[in-house]
Amino acid sequence: MFKKVLHPLLHLFIPHQCAGCGSDIMSRQQVLCMHCINRLPVTSFCGHANNPVEKIFWGRMPVTSAASYLYFSKDSVLQHIIHELKYKGNKELGSFIGRKMGEALLHAQQFNDVNALIPLPLFAARERKRGYNQSTLLCRGMAEVLNLPVLTQVIYRHTPSETQTNKNRIDRWLNMQGKFVLQQPDAISGKHILLVDDVITTGATLEACGQELLTAPNTRLSIMTMAYTVK
Ligand SMILES: [Zn+2]
Repeated sequence: MFKKVLHPLLHLFIPHQCAGCGSDIMSRQQVLCMHCINRLPVTSFCGHANNPVEKIFWGRMPVTSAASYLYFSKDSVLQHIIHELKYKGNKELGSFIGRKMGEALLHAQQFNDVNALIPLPLFAARERKRGYNQSTLLCRGMAEVLNLPVLTQVIYRHTPSETQTNKNRIDRWLNMQGKFVLQQPDAISGKHILLVDDVITTGATLEACGQELLTAPNTRLSIMTMAYTVK
């Protein structure tokens, strides 16, 4: 009751702005204005085998399919979107983009036997500080469209605690990625799972996580990210 009264009042003082461009010409239900939605740099990777995201993993890890929804480029609307998602706690935006990612996968044949979504885990301390995992937000939106479970307890990311000073450069780098620990192999055994992250660049973190997931018996792994960075 209290909330019902407060909410419209608050809106008078807190302007509702587009997460992409800051425009306030949009309805309360929208998180992005039509102009920004139409400017999203959508890839055509979802329906295409051998796309650039799949090629990242060639020779590194057996991936059934991989894709990204958007191209990342600096100064684009996407940079604002990622900032809102990662640092501003814009959860509605995460669900919105997640739904768009789900729609993109819905008609892609190579993803249609996926059984579950797994967000790339953050370090526990970082997730506590941020209050959420942006990849989980994306998964929740995707799950609404794809009608799939989101598994958040299957794997976790071990925070590096040991000192870094005695390590060589490569060991330090590996340590930075964190060690992923599969704690519920039975939950994914025999399934086709889709690992989800926000941005893919080198794929190193997704590879580290994916390799650990693939230690579950008869598991197939696919990968989907919100954005793909051209190296
Ligand atoms: Zn906008």
